[in-house]
Amino acid sequence: MGGGFPNTELREVNDPRVFEFFDFITLDDGELPVELIFESLKAENPEFKRTFLLENNQVVYKNNSSKKDYRQSEIGTPDYTDLPLHQYISVIEIANPMHSLWSDGRWNKLTMAHGCYWGKCTFCDISLDYIRLYEPISAKILVDRIEELIATTGETGFHFVDEAAPPALMREVALEILRRNLVITWWTNIRFEKSFTADLSYLLKISGCVAVSGGLEVASDRLLKLIKKGVSVAQVAQVTRNFTEAGIMVHAYLMYGYPTQTEQETVDSLEMVRQMFEMGILQSGFWHQFALTAHSPIGLKPEEFGVTPVQKEITFANNDIEFTDETNIDHSKFSFGLKKSLFNYLHGINFEIPLQDWFEFKIPKTTVDPNYIHDCLLDDENFRFNGNSKIVFPIKDFIEEGVIKTKKNISYQNTKLTFHLKTNVLSILLQEEKATWLMKTIKSNPIQHSKLITLQQLKDDYEETMDDFELFWFSKPVMQFRENGIILVL
Ligand code: SF4
Repeated sequence: MGGGFPNTELREVNDPRVFEFFDFITLDDGELPVELIFESLKAENPEFKRTFLLENNQVVYKNNSSKKDYRQSEIGTPDYTDLPLHQYISVIEIANPMHSLWSDGRWNKLTMAHGCYWGKCTFCDISLDYIRLYEPISAKILVDRIEELIATTGETGFHFVDEAAPPALMREVALEILRRNLVITWWTNIRFEKSFTADLSYLLKISGCVAVSGGLEVASDRLLKLIKKGVSVAQVAQVTRNFTEAGIMVHAYLMYGYPTQTEQETVDSLEMVRQMFEMGILQSGFWHQFALTAHSPIGLKPEEFGVTPVQKEITFANNDIEFTDETNIDHSKFSFGLKKSLFNYLHGINFEIPLQDWFEFKIPKTTVDPNYIHDCLLDDENFRFNGNSKIVFPIKDFIEEGVIKTKKNISYQNTKLTFHLKTNVLSILLQEEKATWLMKTIKSNPIQHSKLITLQQLKDDYEETMDDFELFWFSKPVMQFRENGIILVL
């Protein structure tokens, strides 16, 4: 037995009865431990890696191999060829859109990166290898694996089971998918990083990304700081807006009952979530009550977070620890109201019902401004100039047509560029000189180029023959190109 359950719950297992059901239990990455178990069946002096087994009716932990674990680039592609994949049944779950995506149908599973590049959240198992050891693989290897899995399973749906997929690698994977003209569907888990701009979200979408899930946790800036999540509610709102506008479904993991959380903060957190659903920038979510886990920073140093664990003698699963916290609030009383209101919000209804009505006990009035989330979305990232940004032109086919415009008896030679997009046809009029430059630039920088042109290079090239690039770059026609995904700034 290996995988998530033993890795988190069975690290101190010592009850021999478990071995009536399993011969070996391995911890953390499984490739080398399983290979050594296989070899041990024939070896005289077997070696093991992070493996529990039974000797003389005692549970023993063996880690006596000096062999190094396989690197992520060496582990190869999962091989499903002996499984009758088409005979598996689908579990159909309809209430929650993300859970439905997860369990209805089959997804090929891959990881972009082992572990979490952030690795700081105080409730998370960051001391364990599956989070702690961060090791990404290259976009090329990953897309090779995608192609191999399509060939062997005939299926083009991919679930990247990352703890938090890194945005820069997601960008490279998306570009590689587009360069190879693959048509796939994929989704993954992320952190709501600032780097998920509108343009990156759009690139992910056209590479086949249909959904992302990420932790908003407690939607409160004070508690997000304590969690060390590295995001604010405003930032999450902007990022989820970007994904939503690109057509990517967003699921938020929500939390209540974090140590020191007050009733007021739970109500305010619910109000933030209500506003996000009402604004249409979240499509799915799930409330989890905070659990104190043994391998998280809070579990390792509970006194620093104001919680007191209830110590118990445990011989089997040890992960969730009972505790008392200094607020003495019974957070579980909020469970029903939080879940019921969320169920309504994710169906797009009952936003106007007062928060009090979701609960059968008196709750404090929210202190969150009714326009808080709306106002967070007013900041427009399109009007920033970063010379190092990479420029992508995903669409290379367009129709050009000369048009003469007359204004105050003076005629101007213009060019109309028409793009046939997936959902609309876009025609944009530019001065002839600018249109010629843009067409040449699009043609000489196809997405297939492994080195993408930067915004600064684009500016330098433009200003060789014309002046004031910024005036052009922030003009209405260019904004239309950007809003329609004809020019992406990454
Ligand atoms: S909660 Fe997510 S983002 Fe935070 S450390 Fe864990 S895996 Fe990383």
